Amino acid sequence: MIMNGKKGIILGVANNKSIAYGIAKQCAAQGATIAFTYLNDSLKKRVEPIAAEFGSENLVYPCDVSNIDEIKQLVVSLQKDLGQIDFVVHSIAFAPKEGLCGRFVDISKSAFDIAMDVSVYSLIEITRHLKPLMSSECSVLTLSYLGGVKYIPNYNLMGVAKAALEMSVKYLAEDLGKDGIRVNAISAGPIKTLAAAGIGEFRFMLKWNEAHSPMKKNVTTDEVGKSGMYLLSDLSSAVTGEIHYVDAGYSIMGMPAVSFDENGKQKIAWGGGE
Ligand code: NAD
Repeated sequence: MIMNGKKGIILGVANNKSIAYGIAKQCAAQGATIAFTYLNDSLKKRVEPIAAEFGSENLVYPCDVSNIDEIKQLVVSLQKDLGQIDFVVHSIAFAPKEGLCGRFVDISKSAFDIAMDVSVYSLIEITRHLKPLMSSECSVLTLSYLGGVKYIPNYNLMGVAKAALEMSVKYLAEDLGKDGIRVNAISAGPIKTLAAAGIGEFRFMLKWNEAHSPMKKNVTTDEVGKSGMYLLSDLSSAVTGEIHYVDAGYSIMGMPAVSFDENGKQKIAWGGGE
């Protein structure tokens, strides 16, 4: 199996709809040993049974990334329980509701600071603190979205956070490349998860992507998980600093495709049916 003998940590499982869960599932299926973290006590109850599903009941730790003491304690616990690690998944983002709807120009400084701290700085901080445990073939993976490079309605503050996250991936990749450590991101198409529920008009985003992606579908957490497993494994041993799109091709489209009705009249191929 591709991940046999690999040990790593996945931050960001909230439930079995999480992208992090999809990645865990594929890595576990390929033989990886996985440690999990949870944000708070109410999510602990959800994460523990998920960890047990992957034989990791003794590898579950608290980690609110805005709490430096919890990050430091996580490193101590991982060192004791796993020793060296071969992969790290950072599948974490948060922005206050006001940053995900309304006018971009109205975003407050406090909302901006929270989103950047939890969604961007945490990748840098987690990577720095876990670095002493990383093997010389360690792979770090984070999750981004097209809203970090193009305007997406309502994505607002998270778009700015994802832009910063994607550049952080590149700077981290350069910094750590000489130690054999790789850092990549998957830019996933929209998926209905807990975090996505906070984005205004998310159902419309799903419909739009399905109608206008080359593959005429939305992606699943299993599909993101398979690409994630590739980026975490030795299959991608010379890939670093990449933003890898797993979006049924949506990001290549410059304009909605057109189709023709039975009279040869051109119409926009919009899923709404006109
Ligand atoms: P999710 O809600 O399942 O996962 C988000 C996770 O972030 C949760 O586990 C939550 O506990 C964690 N989190 C939030 N604040 C935290 C903190 N302070 N400390 C530690 N953990 C914290 O949703 P998801 O969609 O699986 O999101 C995972 C990642 O994927 C995010 O970075 C998100 O932006 C990204 N992403 C999601 C989509 C989508 O459409 N769902 C698309 C592209 C990228």
